[in-house]
Amino acid sequence: MAERTGVRTAGSPETVVVGAGLVGPVAAMYLAGRYGPVTVLERHDDPRTAAAAGGRSLTVILSARGWRVLRELGLEERVRAISVPLHGRRGHLPDGGTPLTAYSRDGAPIWAVERARLQHILLDAAEATPGVRIRFGEQVVGVDLDAPEVRVRGASGERVLRCAHLLGCDGAHSAVRAAMSARGVREHVGTLELAYQEITLELPWCEPENMHYWPAGDALFGAFPTLSAGRFTGCVFLRRQGPAPSYAAVAAGLPAPDQFAAAFPELARAIPDLGEQLAAKPVSHIALVSCDTWVWEDRAALVGDSCHAMAPFMGQGMNCSFEDVRVLAACLDGERGWSAGLAAYERQRRPDADAVSALSLEHYRTMSRLPEPGAEAAAALSRRLSALFPDRFVPLYERCAFTEESYAGAQESERRLRRLVREIQDRHPGAADRIPDRELRGHVLSRSPLC
Ligand SMILES: Cc1cc2nc3c(=O)[nH]c(=O)nc-3n(C[C@H](O)[C@H](O)[C@H](O)COP(=O)(O)OP(=O)(O)OC[C@H]3O[C@@H](n4cnc5c(N)ncnc54)[C@H](O)[C@@H]3O)c2cc1C
Repeated sequence: MAERTGVRTAGSPETVVVGAGLVGPVAAMYLAGRYGPVTVLERHDDPRTAAAAGGRSLTVILSARGWRVLRELGLEERVRAISVPLHGRRGHLPDGGTPLTAYSRDGAPIWAVERARLQHILLDAAEATPGVRIRFGEQVVGVDLDAPEVRVRGASGERVLRCAHLLGCDGAHSAVRAAMSARGVREHVGTLELAYQEITLELPWCEPENMHYWPAGDALFGAFPTLSAGRFTGCVFLRRQGPAPSYAAVAAGLPAPDQFAAAFPELARAIPDLGEQLAAKPVSHIALVSCDTWVWEDRAALVGDSCHAMAPFMGQGMNCSFEDVRVLAACLDGERGWSAGLAAYERQRRPDADAVSALSLEHYRTMSRLPEPGAEAAAALSRRLSALFPDRFVPLYERCAFTEESYAGAQESERRLRRLVREIQDRHPGAADRIPDRELRGHVLSRSPLC
């Protein structure tokens, strides 16, 4: 297909971005400076107005990939000022154990930030960017990929907006992806077996430099410190179906606070308004999305959760999505025309999104289940290998959160490390933890670095 230029009519934007969640404003800022006017359409009201504030308290984790993008947009300092550094993950196990897992070997932190405040900064910055216009209360209800154009429903009725390029930053239930799916693109949309509610709480005995989690087999509670001393924002994750604790059991009449107290007795005692919060806070589901095509000729592309909504437990969904935008802009800059640029973007990002989605699901299983003895022995051996060969065996979490290595590369390195651990354990059944360092070193050095 020949590259089209100047399809837009007078007054219409060069690019329409659907969605002003976390990714839409970032995409608008990257594109407007390079490729002309951008209009962002958001179905909800402006979240910065009092009327739209929904009392949500979700915390998101920012790590290297996200910071790189914020730095490039000149927003690093503003976001850093509202973020809390986190050095590790403290488990509070049913047997009383409180293991601490550092996020990095050199003590570098990841950062917790209130999602709503981050979004406000992004919206302010996007609106201040020449060429960017954000229209709230405008829902895209139809997408014509050929024109391309979108049908928009707002307070004053419906209208059609034409453009040269269309970006679907409209999250897990994307209208742009739906249009592509109607033209034969294969999408996989599922729902995580856990749903969640946001809970705020005081945890004066929990150190504020760590994230804290309480695994309960079929349920999980995670809490992040905020800028107010002792105050945490948390999420309780319960299964949607199955026996208590679950939302199905709540629906069947077993009171939510009773189920919560049985799973998390320590927390139940610490949250005086637990019943009120569980009754008032919405239960949110977590969509899992993948899609075998992300771009449509030179006209449209999916970015962020619209093409890779994932389990949230690695804290990479937004970070990965911000990186999508940076890579998209680099591909457009580096290739001749949008057709080649969008194709390069998909080639580069899709394997990475598949990898980090798979890793996130696996990480959720590790965190929610109680530690198994065999798994702990393997993890201990991995840690020893990474201490002996710090550059060769970088822990998976560190690769994802502290580097910009491709996620697919990180996944492959982790597979190699696990193969090596299994091999060593097979050679020394039940005694791998007693192998002297010298022997362990020799074993590794006898192998090719790629094994
Ligand atoms: C519990 C939880 C914890 C998380 N924690 C982390 C974390 O710690 N770190 C991390 O990196 N990621 C985290 N994530 C993931 C992160 O929130 C998402 O990856 C990120 O929000 C994706 O941004 P987005 O802009 O693609 O989608 P969204 O944030 O969903 O935004 C999409 C926007 O599009 C709008 N929209 C949708 N349809 C239309 C339409 N038809 N017309 C107009 N507008 C439309 C929506 O209203 C919305 O504003 C977490 C997610 C969850 C659920």
